[in-house]
This record gives sequence, structure tokens and C-alpha cells, in this order.
Amino acid sequence: MSLRTKFMLALLLTGLAAVAMVGGLAYVGMTKKVDVIRRQHAADTFYEGMSAYLQKYGSWQAAGGQEAFDEFMHSRRDAQGNRPPPPGQDGEERPGPPQGGERPGARQGDDHPGPPQGEERQGPPQGDESPRGDDRPPPPRRGGEPPYHFIAADQDYRVLLGGGAYRHGELLPESARKDARAVMVNGRVAAYISPEGVFTPSKQEMQYIDAMREALLAGVTAAAALAVLLGVLLSRGLSRKLSHLTGAVRAMHGGSLLQRVPVEGKDEVAALASAFNDMSEQLARSHEELKESHQTILAQAEQMRELSVRDALTKLHNRRHFDEHATTLFSHAVRHKRPLSVVIGDIDFFKRINDQFSHATGDAVLRQVGEILRSHMRLSDLVARYGGEEFVIAFPETELPQAAALCDKLRNLIEGFPWHEVHPDLKVTMSMGVYADLAAGTAEAMLQKADALLYRAKQTGRNRVCFA
Ligand code: GH3
Ligand code: MG
Ligand code: MG
Repeated sequence: MSLRTKFMLALLLTGLAAVAMVGGLAYVGMTKKVDVIRRQHAADTFYEGMSAYLQKYGSWQAAGGQEAFDEFMHSRRDAQGNRPPPPGQDGEERPGPPQGGERPGARQGDDHPGPPQGEERQGPPQGDESPRGDDRPPPPRRGGEPPYHFIAADQDYRVLLGGGAYRHGELLPESARKDARAVMVNGRVAAYISPEGVFTPSKQEMQYIDAMREALLAGVTAAAALAVLLGVLLSRGLSRKLSHLTGAVRAMHGGSLLQRVPVEGKDEVAALASAFNDMSEQLARSHEELKESHQTILAQAEQMRELSVRDALTKLHNRRHFDEHATTLFSHAVRHKRPLSVVIGDIDFFKRINDQFSHATGDAVLRQVGEILRSHMRLSDLVARYGGEEFVIAFPETELPQAAALCDKLRNLIEGFPWHEVHPDLKVTMSMGVYADLAAGTAEAMLQKADALLYRAKQTGRNRVCFA
């Protein structure tokens, strides 16, 4: 579930819960309040009616033979100009006088007497309540008629009107006495009355309650619409900001470390965006530094590797490099049946040069000989200072005659170099041995053969090339 949906659902649920809670509490509270007010009003009317009834006849028993209580109430209403409406009209607010067995008194629910009711729950007292002994069942109650009926008891708490809960003549229990209200006649208690019943809203009240329910429904609908609208607006903003961050993180994952997302407002997302920008910048900077340092390390490593295979004095490759590559050249030549010539050269009487002119002059000679060799090599040729005043060369793709000729040319170049510019008396020559038979088996073996030929060159007068 997306963040947006969750957000909208949370708002929706919160809104609905708030409306339902406030509306529900108001609904229940108002219904109860209406009930209390009506009950009080009905109880007052009943009390006043009962007081008047007993005042008129002196006592319940005296009244029984002359006029039923509900008839008295009916007349009282008529005298006050409040005729009950015909059945089926506004009757629910106008309870009628009790009939039959309720006489002389019966259920009273309001200040508007109406026809008696037959509903058991709210029905009138039964026959044994009546001083006339009439036990006819009460006629059916009209829908929505007043729900209240009251209990009346004499001064000794003997039930006169049971309100459907007690029988006539029954002793009112202690629990029911505490709410009972005394009806005084001539300064003494003539009766006690106690309210009883449940609330059934009147038509008008029903209209109020319906209006409230409709308002509650409208509130719920409005809250839902507001929640959805707010959810859409807020979550759109939030998800847009988060999608910037998601896109930026993906771009970083793709390798573009320097990312900037917009920082809007001052909320937590803005703080996150700002922190992200800082982190991205720092990460990109560190990455750049790391790259530079990596480049430096690579260059230094290459430099180190180069130094490790170069001779410091002549700048030619050294013996280790020659041995490694000569082996490769030999393998290649054998595999492809290509010619390969190997040469070893040694400066003649070099010890004497050192001794006669100085070690520094010897070094200068070594450097110059190295330069002559290097500058006359092809790229594919391999030349190295093998140690002391010895040099080695490998000529790939070169037959023995060409290699020997090339070596003789090199020998000539060394001999013809203007050494007198280094020192007036200086003369330098080189002896060389050249070997080109791959049958020797290895590059090292070929070099040994070349060394033997060099020895022969030394033996036969120096400053010459011997080959085989
Ligand atoms: P030959 O003609 O038989 O080769 O005699 P040679 O004197 O050239 O040979 P020898 O092996 O007797 O002497 C080589 C000398 O080279 C000995 C050594 O001091 C010198 N030498 C070796 N390396 C260097 C170097 O780097 N610089 C200098 N100046 N001399 C070196
Ligand atoms: Mg030597
Ligand atoms: Mg020598």
C-alpha cells in the first residue's frame, strides 16, 4: 500500500471517528436530555392532576365512585382548551384517559390526555387497581403515544395505580418509595406518586432526532470528503518530495553521486532533503578525492613497477625484465615457428676505463652505450643492461645473419662514437655474441650460447661479433 493511500486512510478514519464520536455523544446526550425534560414535565402534570383530583374528592376511594382519574384529567384538559387530536394525528403527545380497569386512575404520560394504550410495557394498570374492579384489558395504544406512566400509592404506600409494574393494593417496595412524591390534601399526605416508564420519542422529537441523524450523516460525509481532499493534497505534496529523494538516490546508485533535491518548507521532509543534499555533496567530494588518490596510487604503482624493471643508470630495462620477456618471446617464436636472435655484448677493458679515467667516466660510457643501443632498436626488440658493463638484446622475427649484421653495425657505432668529447684519450669498443637457434630449448639456454660466443669474441681479439 502506497504512503499516499495509507495517509488518506488514516485521515479518513480519524475524521470519521471524530465525527462519529462527537455526533454520537451529542445524539445520545440529546436523546437522554429530551427524555429527562419530558419525563419531568409529564411527572409535574401528573402530580398537579393528582393533587387536583384528590383535592376535589378528598380521597382516592371517595373519587372512585364518582369519576375515574383519567376522565378527570380528560375534563381538566378540556377545560384548559386542550382537546386531544383525533387518532392517527398528533396523538403521540396526547395521552388519553385510561379505560376500563384503570379506573378511577390510569396511566398518565403528558399534560395532554389521550386514549389509553395497550402496549404491555407501557400499558395501564390492570383491573385490580381499579376501585370499580373493572379488569378489562386496555385498548391498544396508539403508535408513538406518551411512554410515561406513573405509580400512585396511598399514604400507607399501598398501590392505587401500579403503572404496569405493581398490582392494586400491593405494598410499594422501599426501593420505589425513595423517589415517591407526597400529594398533600388539607395538610396531610393523601397519596404518593412515583414516575416510571421508558422514553419513546414523540413525532416532533423524532423529527428533531431525525434532523440530528441527518446532520450527523452530513457531518460524516463532509468529514470523509474533507479527509480525502486533505489526504490527496497533503500526500501529493509529501509523495512529490519523497519521489525527488527516491529519484536522487537511484541516480546516486547509478553512479551520479552529486545530486540536489529541492528543499521546500521547514518540516521533517525538508530537513531530510537538506541532509540528503549535504550527504550527496560530501559523498561526491569524497569520491572525487578518492578517485584522485586512486589515480595517484596507480601512477605511483606504475612508477614503482617501472623503477623495478629499469636500470637507474642507463634507463634501459634490467635483467629481471629481460628474463621475463625473453621467455615470452621464445615461447611465441617456438609456437609460431618464427626466428629469434639473442645477443650479449660486453664493453672491452671496462675496468681499465674506470681505473684510467674515473668511475664517473665509466658511468658516462655505460649511459652512452645504453643510449646507442636503445636508439637503434625497433619497438618489438628487447634490450637491457644485464649487469656491470654487459648488455643483452633479443631480436624477434630476426634471422641470425640480419642479427649479426645489426650487431656489427652497433659495434661500429660504439667504436665510432666521439668518445674524445668525454675524455680526450677515451676509446670504447664492445664484443658481442649472437645466437639464433631455438633448438637451445629456452631463452636462458640461448643466452648461455650467446655468452659462449661472446667469450670467443673476447678470446679472438675483442671489438668483434661472433655468431652461430
Ligand atoms: P673484458 O674486456 O675482458 O670484459 O675486461 P673488463 O675489464 O671489461 O672486464 P671486468 O669484468 O674485469 O671488469 C668489469 C668492470 O666493470 C669491473 C667493475 O668495477 C666495473 N663496473 C661494473 N659495474 C659498473 C658500474 O656501474 N659503473 C662503473 N663505472 N663501473 C662498473
Ligand atoms: Mg664483463
Ligand atoms: Mg668487459
